[in-house]
Amino acid sequence: MAGKVNLYFIWYGNFLTGPAASDGVMTQELLTALFSAGGLGGTAYARINSTYSDRSHAVSGNFALLDSVNDYYSRGAQLSDAAVTAVVAQAITSRALPKDTNGLYFVLTSSDVSESSGFCMQYCGWHSQARISGSDIKIAFVGNPDRCPGACEEQLVSPNGDSGADGMASIMAHETNEAISDPDLNAWYDNSGNENGDKCVWKWGPVTGSLGKGAYNTVVAGHHWLLQMNWENARGGGCDQKLGGKFYSQ
Ligand SMILES: [Zn+2]
Repeated sequence: MAGKVNLYFIWYGNFLTGPAASDGVMTQELLTALFSAGGLGGTAYARINSTYSDRSHAVSGNFALLDSVNDYYSRGAQLSDAAVTAVVAQAITSRALPKDTNGLYFVLTSSDVSESSGFCMQYCGWHSQARISGSDIKIAFVGNPDRCPGACEEQLVSPNGDSGADGMASIMAHETNEAISDPDLNAWYDNSGNENGDKCVWKWGPVTGSLGKGAYNTVVAGHHWLLQMNWENARGGGCDQKLGGKFYSQ
């Protein structure tokens, strides 16, 4: 995706405050901070994506959260892939969110929500595209990995003291990197079908510190994060944490 990519978050399920909230406002605040303007977008990490282009699209690595909405279980607590798409379509057709062909719409679910095509078993997140209101719309799903820490969280004790949000941060970075370099699933992937995020999944590079609350390798938006590396498509290719940085095998 060319230029600056606008991110949209649909918080699906229960992220409300109060004793009934399964995941809570802290999760929203942390992930909003990470992806808002002045956050991860445009950093040396995000600009690894600028090593991808085709004749008509130069990926910049600039992205930022533009708007977000809450969806309180409009399709229940068990979602299919089609239901995830329908949640995005509903947000657009109801005008809760704008229709943006240079946008990436995340459906972010609370830990009590399942995704029947394989969340926690086959994947921790996915991205795709769908035709919504006559336009090619990019969508992504990331569930709260507190649902399956053994499968989708690197560490139970996390730098921000919110294992679900900290786990989602890396998965969301993975899906963002993939969606902007392969938005319609026909652009960049290797001979094995791996996209850039897949090539470096669960690889962190050097951990730069620990807060006593969990290891981190990135400081951005006033918080510490453990984000997987991304595949730099230059210099012969490799996984690194910042554009032009050292390649790490793990
Ligand atoms: Zn992937």
